[in-house]
Amino acid sequence: MNSFTFEAQAARVVFGEGCLAQLPHEVERLSASRVMLIATPGRASLAARARELVGNNVVEIFERAVAHVPQDIAKLARQSATESSVDVLVAVGGGSAIGVAKAIALTTSLPIIAIPTTYGGSEMTPIWGLTEEGRKETGRNPRVQPRVVIYDPQLTLTLPARTTASSGLNAMAHCIEALYASDANPLTTAAAREGLKLLASALPRLAVAGEDREQRSAALQGSWLAGYSLGTVQMALHHKLCHTLGGAFNLPHADTHAVLLPYTAAYNRDAAPDAMRMAAETLGVEDTPSELLALAQTIDAPLSLREIGMREDDIDKAVSLAGDRQYPNPAPLTVDRLRALLDAAWRGDTEYVTAFD
Ligand code: NAD
Repeated sequence: MNSFTFEAQAARVVFGEGCLAQLPHEVERLSASRVMLIATPGRASLAARARELVGNNVVEIFERAVAHVPQDIAKLARQSATESSVDVLVAVGGGSAIGVAKAIALTTSLPIIAIPTTYGGSEMTPIWGLTEEGRKETGRNPRVQPRVVIYDPQLTLTLPARTTASSGLNAMAHCIEALYASDANPLTTAAAREGLKLLASALPRLAVAGEDREQRSAALQGSWLAGYSLGTVQMALHHKLCHTLGGAFNLPHADTHAVLLPYTAAYNRDAAPDAMRMAAETLGVEDTPSELLALAQTIDAPLSLREIGMREDDIDKAVSLAGDRQYPNPAPLTVDRLRALLDAAWRGDTEYVTAFD
């Protein structure tokens, strides 16, 4: 028997090929006329397209978004929003651009229109994150939940193969943790299963044909459902570890998710039998952690923390940061077990994932 409290999210979702064109209409629906566009430097061309669409209503363009939202970037972005008296924030790009919009909304309550171009899922959540001196703080606040999300699969056609793989696994991690969440409910479980199914099927095809529009659309739909799950229920060990490592060692966000997912799933394998069974059934396999590893190998995702820039000397610090707060997780969090997980993930020791009774 499970029990839960469910609060519906109020986001309006516009999904479809070419629906970026609806941006001016969505700005108008919010009765806004002073738009601030937010992007990472790499997505400046997309910001320019959005600017063409919205025209003179764009009063500020902020193209300095970076991952994990350092406090100094948040401060600059907030200043720009205030100085230009903006009345709506339009974030185009991945979680880094959306993260900056959320940092502004957290202190100003300005509405956000999110136009995601990765599979990270931030657009569907009330979760914000800010980093200062190597420590990433996250929290939930309805103010930062984007009011409108425009999902246009065309915008993901340029996503490089490696980012597609890592970001797709990032989305699958939301689904896996939603299945064993302490406050899971029938809606999030259904969304997480469908998200897993869509992503597991689309990612191998996208690894060999990144411009396949149908698969791009399926993967983006999967990431919507994954983001919905992430935004609705509590995440556990996997997400806490990724945040800790990202904040402390500035590791690339989606890559960290991609490496850790098979390891955290293996950590929780015995303690979350129902979630593992549901995921295995959805994926059509016997063992969920082994399948997540096999998928990561197939789609050329990064396979070790060493490979994505973590130093071996940092494992000690990571274990101590990861173990310094208890939170709901199917398997108990102990220093010894966390060390074993991080040691294995750092080396890319696949036996940790595949050797089980
Ligand atoms: P990102 O936004 O950092 O983007 C990664 C890189 O890909 C960037 O260089 C970007 O310019 C480029 N890029 C993005 N879309 C592209 C496209 N379509 N074509 C070509 N290049 C493209 O990556 P991300 O993983 O989406 O976001 C990471 C950040 O988001 C982290 O700070 C993470 O903490 C945050 N995040 C927050 C939540 C939340 O709910 N708050 C959820 C997921 C991620």
